[in-house]
Amino acid sequence: MSESIDAILSVASPVRTPLDFDRDGKQIGELHLPHSPHEDAWGVVPLPVAVLRNGNGPTALLVGGVHGDEYEGPIALAELVRRLDPTEIRGRLIVLPALNAPAVKVGQRTSPIDNLNLARAFPGDPAGTATQQIAHYVARALLPKADFVLDLHAGGSSLEIMTVALLRHHDDPDLEARSEAAMRSFGAPFALAGAPGDDRTLIAAALRQGKPAFAVELGCAGRVSPEALAAARAGLTAFLAHVGIVPGGSKPYTGPLWRVAGDDAFVYAPVDGVFEPFHALGQEVTAGQPAGCIHDLRQPAKPPTPVSFARSGLMFARRAYGLAAHGNCLAVIAEKSAA
Ligand code: ZN
Repeated sequence: MSESIDAILSVASPVRTPLDFDRDGKQIGELHLPHSPHEDAWGVVPLPVAVLRNGNGPTALLVGGVHGDEYEGPIALAELVRRLDPTEIRGRLIVLPALNAPAVKVGQRTSPIDNLNLARAFPGDPAGTATQQIAHYVARALLPKADFVLDLHAGGSSLEIMTVALLRHHDDPDLEARSEAAMRSFGAPFALAGAPGDDRTLIAAALRQGKPAFAVELGCAGRVSPEALAAARAGLTAFLAHVGIVPGGSKPYTGPLWRVAGDDAFVYAPVDGVFEPFHALGQEVTAGQPAGCIHDLRQPAKPPTPVSFARSGLMFARRAYGLAAHGNCLAVIAEKSAA
């Protein structure tokens, strides 16, 4: 697999930008992804990017808008870019506040151009669809420049989720320890380790290149949470202090690492219908306990279908929509890690 990834990453990207990543100062501009649909033969998909640099020092790659319906990250990153003067930093910030800009434009998880999920597209494909080409550019051109990578998410339209930092497991203990220290520095109120991972995320791609990396989930349900936005603002500043790009300290998360222990930590809808949850986010639940029930609104004589938890723990995510289809994720349970 790594050989094929190396082969993919050796191919030049079609993405262009006039920004000079090695120049001191603040540059706010665009990446241009050539795109030639019916209504625009020679156009580009513009992707916002900012580079702040002040001499030698670490580089942090800060990303928001991988999903277009997750807003606290993009808002906080744009604020950071506007607020920071390059003389206030040491090293470099590369900020992609709305990476999947076509999805951000329409407020959707997936791109309206190719219906792909950018968090399932890494390491990308330079000859693929728009989303695959975006992933490839980041993996080929930007990850190699980064010393630390932070990917700001939220639950998106379909999920309510606690504000949580996510640490992906990596076999290299030193890389995992540096990722964990960076993740803790963000100060999110809750932390998941060995989080449910997919090899096609930005974080997975960053770790493959040996870059300490973590993600956070901020708000949820396709709206802006003032509390999560405050966590994003504070967390970004604390993380940048931790890596030495801005002065100051951080109040790291010192609590336990939680984990999603297996597929049965996910509660999936057994039938189509409307999900009535019985528990609030953050509530402790036990295996066998009813998680809720699914109503068939068109069959009033039919009793609702019960749904149970298969594991004990804390319910940290829950379906935001009432309407659910067989197989949709209704709830996710986290347990305290043994370690
Ligand atoms: Zn997301």
